[in-house]
Amino acid sequence: MSEVQLLPVSKTVPMPLLERARELGVSEFGESRVQELLVKAAQVEEAAPRWVMIGPLQTNKARDLARVAHEIQTVDSAKVAQALQRRLEQADRRMTALLQVNTSGEEAKSGCAASEVEALLEATAACDRLEVRGLMTIATRGGDEAETRRCFAALREVRDRLSATSGVALPELSMGMSGDLELAIEEGATVIRVGSALFGARPPLV
Ligand SMILES: *Cc1c(COP(=O)(O)O)cnc(C)c1O
Repeated sequence: MSEVQLLPVSKTVPMPLLERARELGVSEFGESRVQELLVKAAQVEEAAPRWVMIGPLQTNKARDLARVAHEIQTVDSAKVAQALQRRLEQADRRMTALLQVNTSGEEAKSGCAASEVEALLEATAACDRLEVRGLMTIATRGGDEAETRRCFAALREVRDRLSATSGVALPELSMGMSGDLELAIEEGATVIRVGSALFGARPPLV
């Protein structure tokens, strides 16, 4: 079996707990809001961890993100890719990137449609500051096991089809969170994004 990487998701996790995780050797954190990521990044002193953006990005936040983040898993439009490209050029930085695909079909979810991923991959190929490593998805909220599995399998199938037609490898599949990571691994996840199972339950959203 190939290796599955665990991305610790630190959104809403207070700094002391994050620092404790760093002492235990955690060197990478996923955050879903640019503002929170920036505030935390500014508080961490030496040996900066790798900051990974896992929430939707508004283009007016691209500049801030480009200055501090190392990866974005939520590129879902050419507009977002191009905004980041421009800001990464200005900051003379690079980021690794995943393209987010909406496999659940839920309207409220970000991510491009499966039918649009090929065009998005072409658009990002022109953005040389973004190194596209694969795809990311979030399964249907509250879906049963079959539905969750369907979302993950769909991402893998999109990847397989796309890498065959484009010749781009796209090795990474980021899928699965605390509640559905076993299914994600069975369906081929290479990255699982784990928050509450590591850091405890988050306060409810207000
Ligand atoms: C919050 C979040 C996670 C982690 O969720 P848990 O259920 O706490 O593991 C994973 N992925 C994304 C995109 C998130 O926003």
